[in-house]
Amino acid sequence: MGKLLFFLLAIAILYYLFKNDKRVEKVGEGETPPPPEGEDMVLDPQCKTYISKLEAFRVKEGDKVHYFCSPECRDKFVARLKG
Ligand SMILES: [Zn+2]
Repeated sequence: MGKLLFFLLAIAILYYLFKNDKRVEKVGEGETPPPPEGEDMVLDPQCKTYISKLEAFRVKEGDKVHYFCSPECRDKFVARLKG
């Protein structure tokens, strides 16, 4: 008699823990923050490559700033701007 009660209790506890686990999992999914991506990426208009803004070579054209992956790309772009 005592054994049966213990058995049922054990099942009830397992069931409760299992249910609880699932609920915690769901909440966790909802609260997952997006992966941190602090670095700004910019497009090199010369070779169409994305580079880190911090490492990019810059050229000012009026109010606009163009970013390039290398001095070669920058020079080509500037040459094209000048015609
Ligand atoms: Zn480039």
